[in-house]
Amino acid sequence: MPARSVSFRFHGELNDFLSPQRRNTRFPHTAGETDTIKHIVESLGVPHTEVESVAVNGLARSASERLLEGDSVDVFPHAMPVLVEQPRFVVDGHLGRLAAYLRMLGFDSWYDRLADDPLLATVASREGRVLLTRDVGLLKRREVEHGYCVRSDKPHDQLREVATRFALSSRFTPFRRCMECNGPLRGVPKQEVADQLPPHTRQTKTEFSRCVACGKIYWRGSHYARMLERIKELSGQR
Ligand SMILES: [Zn+2]
Repeated sequence: MPARSVSFRFHGELNDFLSPQRRNTRFPHTAGETDTIKHIVESLGVPHTEVESVAVNGLARSASERLLEGDSVDVFPHAMPVLVEQPRFVVDGHLGRLAAYLRMLGFDSWYDRLADDPLLATVASREGRVLLTRDVGLLKRREVEHGYCVRSDKPHDQLREVATRFALSSRFTPFRRCMECNGPLRGVPKQEVADQLPPHTRQTKTEFSRCVACGKIYWRGSHYARMLERIKELSGQR
């Protein structure tokens, strides 16, 4: 099978996925006759979910095409921010804090600590959700259409990354969704929940919400104040 000598250059944040000697430079590659551009891009470490477009010899091309001898390929990341009509997420089992923060801000975020890769990919695909993970291999699964490889390992920074990338700050609806189970919160009269509250809370708080799905009760305590601070910081309102 005749191989083709081609070259690749990756742009912008796509370089995060490359081995150091391939970053921010054009490098040679040997393409098999049947290799698609997408296949080669993923074999070099870049999941298809991170790629917006490719050009061959300066002309826009589909990533499902194959290459010819001497082709010069450019691979481009998504323009920022990535605009999703109604952002909904699937969050990898390793990113539980991120899932809770997204829910805190009102975003529908499917999360199951024990979910395996096939289930995460299936839920993302079936429900049109954006898959958030730090696992590049998971983003390479064919059925995953929208995804993002979270770069940071710190939950606050992860939230900032996701909020920036998907322009979430104008869509924050805090304290409408349960951080535990993703269910909607509804205001509830104090007398309905009074017997389930810690004594100090019962004496000092007046406004309560309850998760329609799991029954967890929320009120505006010191935790609430800290979360508000974080939300302001993310919205650039400090
Ligand atoms: Zn709940």
